[in-house]
Amino acid sequence: MAGKGFHQLKRWHQRALDVMRSPTALAFLPALCLGGFWLGGEGALMALAGAVPCLYLVMGGVARAGGPSAMVGDIADRTTFEDIVSDISDAMEDSPRQSALYAIAIEDFDMLVERYGQTLADTVVERTGQRIISVLRSADRVGQLAEGRFAVCLAPVRNLDLESCIQLGGRMQVAIEEPISVDGVTIYVTVGIGFCQRERAPGGLASDWIEAAACAMRVALRRGPSGLRAFSDQMRQETLNRAALYDEVGGALDGGQIVPWFQPQICTETGKVTGFEALARWCHPTRGMISPAEFLPAIEQSGLLERLAEVMMYHSFAALKAWDGAKISVPHVGVNFAGTELSNPRLIEKISWELDRFDLQPERLAVEVLETVVADTGDDVITRNIASLSEMGCQIDLDDFGTGNASIASIQRFSVSRIKIDRSFVMKADRDPDQQRMISAILTMAERLGVQTLAEGVETVGEHVLLAQLGCDHVQGFGIAWPMPFDQTIEWLHAHNTKLKEVPRIMTGRLK
Ligand code: C2E
Ligand code: CA
Ligand code: CA
Repeated sequence: MAGKGFHQLKRWHQRALDVMRSPTALAFLPALCLGGFWLGGEGALMALAGAVPCLYLVMGGVARAGGPSAMVGDIADRTTFEDIVSDISDAMEDSPRQSALYAIAIEDFDMLVERYGQTLADTVVERTGQRIISVLRSADRVGQLAEGRFAVCLAPVRNLDLESCIQLGGRMQVAIEEPISVDGVTIYVTVGIGFCQRERAPGGLASDWIEAAACAMRVALRRGPSGLRAFSDQMRQETLNRAALYDEVGGALDGGQIVPWFQPQICTETGKVTGFEALARWCHPTRGMISPAEFLPAIEQSGLLERLAEVMMYHSFAALKAWDGAKISVPHVGVNFAGTELSNPRLIEKISWELDRFDLQPERLAVEVLETVVADTGDDVITRNIASLSEMGCQIDLDDFGTGNASIASIQRFSVSRIKIDRSFVMKADRDPDQQRMISAILTMAERLGVQTLAEGVETVGEHVLLAQLGCDHVQGFGIAWPMPFDQTIEWLHAHNTKLKEVPRIMTGRLK
């Protein structure tokens, strides 16, 4: 109750200040003094001359109306800002005027604090606030909602279209992102900005409006750096869907909704299938098929990556047994392991147990490890796990090769069996000499190190033929086949093997 009364008082104070600072009030000051003299004589004039400046001093009006950085008044704290937004929102209820609310976040703020310390980070926040103010008009309002996070509510105007909102957002971004010099250190910050026009805000409450801008800001941060996004209804739906995924993901894993789909890998020399990669798919009962890009973050944040690996391994081993049973040769299945799973000290035990259960040899499993994990790892458990898996006889595939700066030493240290050349090098390789040079360099290095190669994301016959000619050992991609559910693999394998028997080898003679 006391808090509410205090905020009410603050709002009155703010309104009184607004009136006192307005040009109209200032223009009437001389008239007020003259009126006082006319009615009450010299005494009244003296009293007014003393009382008015005192009133301004007490209310803080002189200081605030003074310097340029104070043009829009103070930077309000969260609660005061919500009150301000409430007032603006109420005032606009039956008015044709328009407004917009911006949410602004300094990107990687925690890293900034870690790198430069709290004092410097505070200075950056202060300058950011000043820079935001510098591009606004005097009646616009600014609030600081959290450390490194600001919000701006524009004073209502007659015309405020989407284009003007985007332009203002861009101007704030440019102003904030100017390098900041503090104590001889130059700091570069980027900001993600989201905004919501009043008429687009869902719900009538000020908090709904602020949340809508914050939702757009979060999307801007995800798409950043320096993202700028306008709130839309679709955005809200996506956010709700994403939130729902978090609630459902555990049940989906245990309930068998998340399963591997399989994408074949073939040998460029013989055309034969040398393996399948297991790629996670969520077959959602109402939303259809959901890709890993959408649900992996939910799995990761729910701490369920290990459970995912178990599920993927279980289904992959069951698939190997089924192909064996159908007398179709599929030498191995590649399963993706994220860094967190690889740091589990009991990983080897778990994999051995699972292989035994299915009576499969370790070489039937290819462990796909991202190049970034190998390059970054100072983690002894990861190093030991990968080395043990390799000793056991599992294949180690270095995934997304070319994107993670793994050293040649680490390729040897981890006993990598094969590198998977990232799709970014393969794209348009048949038409782009630069791409060809990069692929050739990777292939030469792999040959010298005695490791096998696989090109990912092969989409066209041209790319396939070029990779074969350059001497890449294996290819995988939509050009060969899209990932498919297990049920379709046997039919696909039969068709592929029949085609191989009918057609003499296409890829002959390698370019060196
Ligand atoms: P990745 O391991 O690099 O897998 C290859 C991705 O490229 C797959 O995307 C695949 O569908 C896609 N792809 C295959 N051929 C082509 C092509 O010709 N063109 C293009 N444009 N794309 C192609 P997907 O299935 O969406 O998986 C994305 C990523 O999610 C994977 O990248 C992998 O890092 C991760 N992921 C998938 N399944 C699992 C899993 O079970 N566990 C973990 N930890 N990560 C997984
Ligand atoms: Ca992979
Ligand atoms: Ca990959």
